[in-house]
Amino acid sequence: MSSMSDNTNTSKITPPNSALEIQGLTVSYGDKTAIFSVDANFPKASMSAIIGPNGAGKSTLLKSVIGVQPKLSGQINIFGNPIKNNLKKIAYVPQRVSVDWDFPTNVMDVVQMGLYRQVGLLGRMRGKQTSIAMECLDRVGMADLWQQQIGQLSGGQQQRVFLARALAQDAEIYLLDEPFSGVDAATERAIIDVLKSLKSKNKSVIAVHHDLATVRDYFDYVLMINIKNIAEGLINETFTNENLQSTYGGKLELAHAEELSVSIDRTTT
Ligand code: ADP
Ligand code: MG
Repeated sequence: MSSMSDNTNTSKITPPNSALEIQGLTVSYGDKTAIFSVDANFPKASMSAIIGPNGAGKSTLLKSVIGVQPKLSGQINIFGNPIKNNLKKIAYVPQRVSVDWDFPTNVMDVVQMGLYRQVGLLGRMRGKQTSIAMECLDRVGMADLWQQQIGQLSGGQQQRVFLARALAQDAEIYLLDEPFSGVDAATERAIIDVLKSLKSKNKSVIAVHHDLATVRDYFDYVLMINIKNIAEGLINETFTNENLQSTYGGKLELAHAEELSVSIDRTTT
């Protein structure tokens, strides 16, 4: 494992420019350390990518931020305040493969789950909530399919529905775990358009991203991890061959990024 890169510039981002700040985050599964003392500071109103090889701890990092996976140590702040009591400012889209698609529920139900914080678990969905949900489905091009069973949708359609659920939450920070994995090209375009429109409304988007070929196109900022920090900063300064080799190990040229993303796809379960 290489040492922390000179490109790490977490100290430059301070509130009010910081959306999500992570300090010394360590998470284990039993004896196995998934992430060790990770620092990150994702800027506000930006598109940030988290990249690293399979098993680098990317999904664990997101789960730990939202409290689904407990942390051993570390401090997490959003907009300069402890995350506790501020979780409602975060919307999370899990990795598609981690969802039970046989669960008997339809598109509208899934999107309305995003509204539970506003309605309360025992509250009844009212006309207003239904129209918010429809509006969010419309933003991802899924309004026509609101009655479909979720298990009957294509991978791309399922991903759009989960993005619609996140939109319904009307959060400040959007955490997405490989949102483009296993989706068709049209869905990828639709998702990136929605994410860019969130950024234009000063929302902060942080996505685990597996396709190195599109990092420069899609993102402003990158965190490169492999259990520990490798590098962090603006794409132009940070997304370099040197840092990619430190992150993925072995010989890796940017020109080969596309092949790499294909091989990562194959090994993703
Ligand atoms: P990434 O998303 O970067 O591929 P993960 O965060 O999913 O990596 O996993 C990091 C490490 O933690 C991997 O070695 C993985 O096998 C392990 N891991 C992930 N989830 C669990 C779990 N629920 N129980 C035990 N080990 C896990
Ligand atoms: Mg993952």
